Amino acid sequence: MAVLVLGDQLNLDHGPVANADRVVMMEARAFARRRAYHPHKLTLVFAAMRQFRDQLRERGTTVDYYGCETFAEGFDTHFERRPGDELVVMEPPTYGATDRLRELVHERGGHLNVVDNALFISSRSEWEQAFGDREPPYRHEEFYRVMRRETGFLMTDGDPVGGEWNYDEENRQFPGEAYEPPEPPRFEPDKTTREVAAWVRSLSGSYDTDPPGPGWADPEPFFWPVTREEAVEALEKFVDARLAEFGPYQDAMLADEWALNHALLSSALNIGLLHPREVIEAVITAARERPDTPLNSVEGFVRQVLGWREFMRHVYRKGMPQLASANQLGADRELPELYWTGDTDMACLSDVVDGVRQRGYSHHIERLMILSNFALLYGVEPDQLNEWFHAGYVDAYHWVTTPNVVEMGSFGAGLFATKPYAASANYVNRMSDYCSGCDYYHTKDSGEGACPFNSLYWDFLARNEERLRDNHRMGLVYSHLDDKRGEELDAIRERASEVRRLAEDGDL
Ligand code: SF4
Repeated sequence: MAVLVLGDQLNLDHGPVANADRVVMMEARAFARRRAYHPHKLTLVFAAMRQFRDQLRERGTTVDYYGCETFAEGFDTHFERRPGDELVVMEPPTYGATDRLRELVHERGGHLNVVDNALFISSRSEWEQAFGDREPPYRHEEFYRVMRRETGFLMTDGDPVGGEWNYDEENRQFPGEAYEPPEPPRFEPDKTTREVAAWVRSLSGSYDTDPPGPGWADPEPFFWPVTREEAVEALEKFVDARLAEFGPYQDAMLADEWALNHALLSSALNIGLLHPREVIEAVITAARERPDTPLNSVEGFVRQVLGWREFMRHVYRKGMPQLASANQLGADRELPELYWTGDTDMACLSDVVDGVRQRGYSHHIERLMILSNFALLYGVEPDQLNEWFHAGYVDAYHWVTTPNVVEMGSFGAGLFATKPYAASANYVNRMSDYCSGCDYYHTKDSGEGACPFNSLYWDFLARNEERLRDNHRMGLVYSHLDDKRGEELDAIRERASEVRRLAEDGDL
């Protein structure tokens, strides 16, 4: 029996690989051409796989490592060498992947045993505890509390540490002008990673995706962790230098600080280099050793990893396949070209897209309140936005982006979002330093120079009134819309049409 290790399961200590004598891995290169993936994403996954292969061999494990175009081709070679081989694999989180693997193995006379994925903390049982047979919407807070109780993280005698489950209110601060966050860690690529990066560069021009390949990106030198040792170092550096101020500034956006105090661990977590449980334990241990670490920072981090990340995986499991194409608002516009080029005078959107082009990354509030918010207001088809996130980010996988982008960002399905995350320039101005350096006026709703977020926001509310007006969480904003009816709203909607025209022409 051998363990089949997939590219997002690169962990030596959890799951069947921990005791494996023989491992099978497939570097299926057609994956690289399936989407216009960011070069850093491709370098990360393929380099981490090769590094993991080498670590397994150093440990004395036999590794059948196949460089192949597709899994089908890799399995052809494998079962010619080892007819009737028995494989065991951890259940991949991507919809349909288990069935596809079974089919490929069985067609070639092999056996495939699928076991639980040990790289998540929760199982179906925690989800059942929280929601049983209930219909959506599913509330994250209920799931999170079950997870806290089940794991005992941040709990004392059955109650949440500090007396509250959630310290979000304390996590919306904006740093003063003199604030300088710690430098984000960067890892120098070794020979293996450099070889992969060179291969990724050589791929340009061999794509039939739209846009054609990763040429849309403007990558800075690769720096993401690709080995277990580097990932652990990144975790230690976060805990030592960034954790204390992670909480208060987690929703802030600064033009010159792409990382702020964010953990930058998601790319390593999502391919298995770090286990979510060890990441949480490291944070809680550090807070215990340094009692001045703010509880709102610790709880905010634990909620993201123990709560949100696990919740997303289950929402995806429950919602697929319908979730991928969900579009309850009927948004049908093309994703504007500026998402690929960053070419816009909108200071916020331009800076965040440029960051994605350079690093395959932006932090969570930029993803939600700049990128998704703009697409939502503009009326982009959710699936198109999902594709963009999936291609663009180093930490993106279908199970991650689909619930975050289609449901939360685009209000696609009503599985857990109880209202759209729609905001005008007011929000951006409050939580960032972008507006002061922008060509657009954040206080203006209509006419020349008016911030596109504003006209699109009111136009979005007007366009979707039938669907949203009765939502009790939208009552206040609709009363504000009522105040604008007449000439004011007409002018705003005219400006929204102009904004769309400018975006289509590449002149926004
Ligand atoms: Fe963004 Fe509008 Fe502010 Fe410019 S004025 S930075 S476009 S929110």
